Amino acid sequence: MTDTGAMQRRKPEWLRTRLPGGDAYFALKNKLEKRGLHTICQSARCPNAHECWNSDQATFLVMGDICSRDCRFCAVRPGRPLPLDPEEGRKLSEMAALMSLRYAVITSVTRDDLPDKGSGHFARIIRELKLARPQMRIEVLVPDFSGRDELLDAVLDAGPDVLAHNVETVPALYAKVNRRPAAFADSLRVLEHGKERGWVTKSGVMVGLGESADGLHDLFRELRARGTDLLTIGQYLQPDARSLPVERYYSPGEFAALKAEALGHGFIGVESGPFVRSSYHAEELFLQVSRALSRIQ
Ligand code: SF4
Repeated sequence: MTDTGAMQRRKPEWLRTRLPGGDAYFALKNKLEKRGLHTICQSARCPNAHECWNSDQATFLVMGDICSRDCRFCAVRPGRPLPLDPEEGRKLSEMAALMSLRYAVITSVTRDDLPDKGSGHFARIIRELKLARPQMRIEVLVPDFSGRDELLDAVLDAGPDVLAHNVETVPALYAKVNRRPAAFADSLRVLEHGKERGWVTKSGVMVGLGESADGLHDLFRELRARGTDLLTIGQYLQPDARSLPVERYYSPGEFAALKAEALGHGFIGVESGPFVRSSYHAEELFLQVSRALSRIQ
């Protein structure tokens, strides 16, 4: 008897292709490693790393690699996070210069252990980067800060170009992925408050965890109701044995249909595809929204 469920969950052809590579990629990787510097592009073995690096973009994970939460789709180690590194902003500036970056995405683990949840550290890093490399655009991909406006304000006051916060999946699956049900409202509040303060806002969702089509439809609607400008949609891939298994692989055609649906909801820019991650084509999405907003003004 054929196990059709297992067939559907077997990794399809279009996901079996890419590993980062190329001489330029490895040369830069060596330079960074010699200095003890890491990007999330390398740490997560992102399949888009060489494409992003070749277009002078990279994503940095700050505030350590141990998270105070334990989402069941995420490869980051849960536990007691490390003390903050006061030199982190300087090190990132050095790395950004080494990589000649034009666009940097700064993200972090969730730091529920800190009184300000790491918002002050985020702000210091943004300020240092802007001072050291004023020509570089900065996108922050922040945790939910438990929905506290004043913590997000500290980050926004430092002046990033884009505020990103990922809702990750539909709210009906929050318990399954080990997120508090209230975390969805906190996430929406981050996006809503960012927009109230005039920021370009962006969110990301993974598909393949067991969400329904209606659930995605409602999610797009909720995000647009908070004025979210940009959206990324990518395939969930189980990062390790302790994480949730993939429920379903979406075909490239289904990703195209999700993109069309999201654009129909009014997002200004949408990246949707099997390999799309929240920072994929980040600068292009930023430029799309900038052009659209300048036409309106
Ligand atoms: S998704 Fe974010 S909050 Fe959840 S475990 Fe990973 S780093 Fe932590």
